[in-house]
Amino acid sequence: MNQIDNINILIVDDRPENLLVLESVLENMNCNIVKALAGNQALSLLLDYDFALVLLDVQMPDMDGFETAELMRSSARTRYIPVIFVTAISKEQKCIFKGYEVGAVDYLFKPIEPVILQSKVRVFIDLYNQKKIVEEQSELLKLKVEELLELREANSRLENLSICDALTGISNRRHFDKYLETTYKSRRRSGKPLSLIMADIDYFKRYNDNYGHIKGDESIIEVAKAMASSVRRPTDLVTRYGGEEFAIVLAETDKDGAITVAEKVRKKINELALRNEYSNVAPYITISLGVATILPSDDCSIEDFINRADKALYKAKESGRNNTISYEE
Ligand SMILES: [Mg+2]
Repeated sequence: MNQIDNINILIVDDRPENLLVLESVLENMNCNIVKALAGNQALSLLLDYDFALVLLDVQMPDMDGFETAELMRSSARTRYIPVIFVTAISKEQKCIFKGYEVGAVDYLFKPIEPVILQSKVRVFIDLYNQKKIVEEQSELLKLKVEELLELREANSRLENLSICDALTGISNRRHFDKYLETTYKSRRRSGKPLSLIMADIDYFKRYNDNYGHIKGDESIIEVAKAMASSVRRPTDLVTRYGGEEFAIVLAETDKDGAITVAEKVRKKINELALRNEYSNVAPYITISLGVATILPSDDCSIEDFINRADKALYKAKESGRNNTISYEE
């Protein structure tokens, strides 16, 4: 491509002396003048250059100015390049309208008046420059929008990483701590009870020792999935608390409600029937759950709250596993 940084103007006329006249008039306009002696030559130059404007002689042998312009309009690359027809025919003649039909944008009449030609050409140079600026700005804007979208995606990935457990995809311990603190604080304002379930896979050490850690991870994922699917309120949070330990925050849930949820989760894990022939409770994976509930009036720290659920879980383990125990004073 013969692309030149300057603004390119194509002048087309079958007579070399006319081209010279046009060229001399446009000499000081700070643009690159390209000349063609025929419509065919003009069309081939249009493929090589990016023109701001075409000055097109109407009367030419073989292919006249109108035909040339018509062919320009039929190509996507040259369709919007402005054309000024240069003609010796008087303004009153009908063929002026023929030119407008094929998309002419202006007319100049021979003999050329330099001042008129220059002022018309200047208008098109300005238009061309403005078009280029708009194109550049829209390109820049597109890049900025793309950058912004990428950044947003990276941010949300980071955010997910910071709140999700890598193995199971459910909430991680860090997020749990924050969430529990928030719901703990809002409990007094809402006047609603708050419950916490601590759960633990029974005989998981034996499972890991016998089936291996990869199988162990797989079953943790299955248990996490089953838990997450049985706790569906948006204000409840299922967390991987530690290795095979899980915690469920139940906002606005009393003791009975929490026990119901815990039992639902326990039964769901039973139904998974993930084989564990090394368990003393059942031939498949089971969990034990401890439930603690605090009321808005209770004076109990977050730490004590977690300890209560832990104690209840310990009792559930003590009393045979695969069951739910609620904390009692
Ligand atoms: Mg001619």
